[in-house]
Amino acid sequence: MTRRRVSVFGATGSIGQNTLDLIGRDPEAYEVVVLTGGANIACLAEDARRLGAALAVTAYEERLPELRAALAGSGVEAAAGQGALEEAADRPADWVMSAIVGAAGLVPGLRALHHGGTLALANKESLVCAGPLLMAEARRHGATVLPVDSEHSAVFQALVGERMEAVEQVVITGSGGGLRDWPLEHLASASPEQAGTHPNWDMGQRITIDSATMFNKAMELIETKEFFGLPPEKIATVIHPQSLVHALVQFNDGALMAHLGAPDMRHAIGYALHWPERRHLPVERLDLARVACLDFHAPDPARYPALALATRVMEEGGLTGAAFNAAKEAALDLFLDRALPFTGMAPLVETVLDRMAADGRLEADTLDLDMVLHTDRAARAIACELARADVRTA
Ligand code: NAD
Ligand code: MG
Repeated sequence: MTRRRVSVFGATGSIGQNTLDLIGRDPEAYEVVVLTGGANIACLAEDARRLGAALAVTAYEERLPELRAALAGSGVEAAAGQGALEEAADRPADWVMSAIVGAAGLVPGLRALHHGGTLALANKESLVCAGPLLMAEARRHGATVLPVDSEHSAVFQALVGERMEAVEQVVITGSGGGLRDWPLEHLASASPEQAGTHPNWDMGQRITIDSATMFNKAMELIETKEFFGLPPEKIATVIHPQSLVHALVQFNDGALMAHLGAPDMRHAIGYALHWPERRHLPVERLDLARVACLDFHAPDPARYPALALATRVMEEGGLTGAAFNAAKEAALDLFLDRALPFTGMAPLVETVLDRMAADGRLEADTLDLDMVLHTDRAARAIACELARADVRTA
């Protein structure tokens, strides 16, 4: 049996570790080509040794000696830095997991498409900042992009055997995040620690805070538009505190197909790993009699201003997604540094979009990588400048 060549970008993160858990259960079936990580050198080296990876890459150049030392005698090649990460994506693989967090995942993902294999896309930021570019690259190289975000995997599964013209609406569910039940007037005082705990999902810190603001859901609405090619009016979101229904697709005959499952990312990762087959996965089975109740309610726009920004991004198109994603990442960095309150993130992102749109800097008929990266840098700079000005006048 020929082994499947797999690479995992962002292997040391939450999605990466869940991916390695599945791969590690059937080591004979896979040949691990590349694993990448950041500062957690011990984890990266241990996984690379255990799985016999050909190459391990850390994003941080200065950590190369440490990675080399940790891999000594293992036969695993070590590399470091942004350039090395991008070159690692050029190594041929049949299946590549894109699970770096943030816009940093864009270029490795784009380069991995060149082999024409399968890109399992957890890095939603790539679709938000450069969806049309990513999907066009995939078509150009005959590559397959599969969704790994649980909601998009759910929609993808509900669409098997269906025609897109029959879709009336896609409904993306969201838990409402860790601060869902806080009184509105207390939100301004929420700390990164408070916003960084999630009621149902165990995820990386950034996406967990993005869940509390529902910036994560905002990104997912844009991701839905880019991945499935749906217009904004066919994409909706609903709060579902139990996180058991991951998404629903409504068809033109009134049928509503829901995807249910335990909140465990190994389902969506495993579906993308084995697609088009379904294989046994080690995830909890739902006991509906014990679940008993599934609640849904509409999100309050005052609590979740990020959702209206998503509609704006979808309607305006062009480079608005690139600016939105970068401003959101900058706002989150400022919040983590305690330089911006929890409730300051959405207004900051909106002001960045206003500024850049007023100068005509977000208009573009077709996207190229340079435009996206340039917009990304400009939006981050404006966000930081606005935050500094705010601190000075406060
Ligand atoms: P995480 O923070 O746990 O892990 C991020 C990974 O990216 C780590 O390996 C880290 O070393 C690496 N990384 C961070 N910054 C980097 C940089 N500048 N350059 C290169 N590598 C870098 O994040 P996560 O929760 O696993 O999320 C990964 C991606 O998957 C995100 O795009 C997230 O939105 C998406 N996603 C995550 C979940 C989840 O359950 N965690 C669910 C759906 C989608
Ligand atoms: Mg999701």
